[in-house]
Formats: sequence, structure tokens, C-alpha cells
Amino acid sequence: MKITQAEFVISAVKPHQYPEDALPEIALAGRSNVGKSSLINNLIMRKALARTSSQPGKTQQLNYYRVNDRVYLVDFPGYGYAKVSKTERQAWGVMIETYLKEREPLKMVLLIVDLRHPPSKDDQLMYGWLKHFNIPVTIVTTKADKLPRSKWDKHLKVVKQTLEADPRDKVIMYSSEKGIGREELWQILEEKING
Ligand code: GDP
Repeated sequence: MKITQAEFVISAVKPHQYPEDALPEIALAGRSNVGKSSLINNLIMRKALARTSSQPGKTQQLNYYRVNDRVYLVDFPGYGYAKVSKTERQAWGVMIETYLKEREPLKMVLLIVDLRHPPSKDDQLMYGWLKHFNIPVTIVTTKADKLPRSKWDKHLKVVKQTLEADPRDKVIMYSSEKGIGREELWQILEEKING
């Protein structure tokens, strides 16, 4: 997709702050530091619209980005950050669960994992949740540029096995640094947005 417009809309803390114009939404989930903000910036061709290394304290906000007046990218707060209190973790869970269960315009969730490492327990839980709620998922394995090409297939296999990924779910390789996977991911997103 050619990006003609991309803007940050809101950090929504409560559902009544979610946009009401019913544009399709694609949400992005992943552990802190996995490269989620970099991926958003790369997707929408902006250097720093999404804040990289998102502040660990902001565990209860959904960041909405509107692209080409066609779609919202919805950035979930990163999970798995050790210093987050139990209360905050619970609040995160309630917010995400409510969003996944009730958010009508949600079309797909991108589960972002690091190609270099097996997905964490939290990644496995997140994936399980998405399958439980019957939400279309694409698994995006990022930071591919940090591995030699000869190792990509082996690492992809570990990601799929660790998540016990449904063979129908697409798994793509990405590098925000090099733009690897960008076209492929936009194609998947456009199918969902138009479909
Ligand atoms: P977030 O916390 O998930 O939003 O992660 P960030 O986007 O802030 O990325 C965390 C760190 O990983 C930053 O230092 C990024 O520059 C780096 N990073 C993110 N994506 C890539 C990538 O595809 N390749 C490389 N080499 N580094 C990346």
C-alpha cells in the first residue's frame, strides 16, 4: 500500500475513547522491546511516529494510528516487562481481553516475536488467547536482519513449534531495519482490510 497519510490519533485508556468511525483495525501484540514500534514506523514509512522503546509504565493504553483514512493500526502495550506490578498486569489483561472479545472493527492481530529467540511463555499465552477468541492472527518474526539467511528457516520452525501454531496462520519474516517482509505484510493486511 502506498502510504499517503499516517497519523497518531489517541492513546486510549478507556473503551469510550476508541475511535467511532468504524474503520477496520489491525492490532499489534508483542513483548516489550520486541520491535513493535519499529515495525509500525516501518509499515507506515515514518521515522518515529510510533515511539520506539515504548515506556514500560504505560501498560494501559492502546495507541491508535490512522493510515490513509483506511485502517487503524492499534498498538497494544508491550507485555513481559519484569518491573510491572501485579495490579498493572491484571489491568492489562482486562483491557486486552475486553478489546479482543468486543471490538467489532478488529480484523486481525499481528503477534510480533523475535526471530532469533523461541517465543516466551507470554507469547504462547497471547497466541492461545487469540485462537480461543477466534481472531485471525499473523505471526510476524522480526529482527530477521540480525540472523544470517542460512538460519532463517530453522528459526522459523522453532517459532512455529513453540507457539504450536495453527498451520493455517501465516508466519512471515520481517526486518524493520531493512524493510524485509514489508510488501508481504501489507498484502496480508490489505486482504483483511478490503475483505
Ligand atoms: P518495542 O518496545 O517493541 O516498541 O521495540 P522497539 O521498536 O523500540 O525496538 C527495540 C529495539 O530493537 C530498538 O533498539 C530497535 O532499534 C531495535 N529493532 C527493532 N526492530 C529491529 C529490526 O528489525 N532489526 C534490528 N536490527 N533492530 C531492530
